[in-house]
Amino acid sequence: MTARVLDGTAIARAIRAEVATEVARLASSGRKPGLAAVLVGEDPASAVYVRSKGKACEEAGMHSVTLRLPAAATEAELLETVDRLNADPQIHGILVQLPLPKHINSEKVLRRIDPAKDVDGFHPLNVGKLVVGDKTAFRPATPYGVQQMLIRSGVETKGAHAVIVGRSNIVGRPMANLLIQQGPGGDATVTVCHSRTRDLPSVTRSADILIAAIGKPEFVTADMVRPGVVVIDVGINRVDDASRPKGYRLVGDVAYGPVSEIAAAITPVPGGVGPMTIAMLLQNTLQAMQQAALD
Ligand code: NDP
Repeated sequence: MTARVLDGTAIARAIRAEVATEVARLASSGRKPGLAAVLVGEDPASAVYVRSKGKACEEAGMHSVTLRLPAAATEAELLETVDRLNADPQIHGILVQLPLPKHINSEKVLRRIDPAKDVDGFHPLNVGKLVVGDKTAFRPATPYGVQQMLIRSGVETKGAHAVIVGRSNIVGRPMANLLIQQGPGGDATVTVCHSRTRDLPSVTRSADILIAAIGKPEFVTADMVRPGVVVIDVGINRVDDASRPKGYRLVGDVAYGPVSEIAAAITPVPGGVGPMTIAMLLQNTLQAMQQAALD
């Protein structure tokens, strides 16, 4: 069997177009969702992410600002920036690009963001809302994107055994919370694995849906999956490749070639989950504005 490829680029494009249509509709009543990204320091990967988020916002017709602070900025300066954005009526969503320099307490900064503008969904209030199934929660963009991919690709989650490898606050844990909610893209039976899981291959082989969020190149091999599984590869890893102009290529957490011979469906890297993350961030910013209007 050769797996169906789940095309994240195409699904993300469709979601971004839906968001843009809604933004255009709101513009006729003089309202415009705004997203602010705060970037501290010069980390090149973070700068690329922030630039593409800003560009995606503008393409969707949203207001976008990027605030750049030097790597030496103090925690107090960053908190003050967050406070200013919290108070700015043109800004509905705030994201502080991680990782932050070591001298800044990330937890403290993330907790300073007004939960009503916390479009990354990392504030404990939104985490709690997600756990209890409150529909006003902001769903962290990457697992939200995975859930949308499953729904829009016609993958049935109801009653399926979903195995997630990875328990981070950004991917694994919110992914589990989304998949156990009632309704479309939910109602799954979920197992969460991590580095202390005993006999991981026997657990992953029991999956109907396998979600890899580990951060180790091509970690999930063909002997770890069973025929017919749906594989979602969240991983983005650089591996050296002298044949590429940049000297590296991107691979996921799944050995794509061998696993795609066995799986029913699989997401590629790049072009799978990656593009979904930005699309869902735009969706969350729109949600933030809509919810603010109801307050
Ligand atoms: P973290 O490093 O925060 O978490 C990795 C998880 O994998 C941990 O829970 C860890 O377990 C688990 N793990 C590590 N080694 C093993 C092992 N040998 N067996 C089983 N579990 C293991 O990573 P993130 O969740 O932030 O990211 C995961 C991947 O997803 C990365 O490649 C990242 O680049 C990518 N990513 C992609 C995004 C996108 O937009 N597509 C967005 C966010 C991340 P333990 O807790 O026990 O240490």
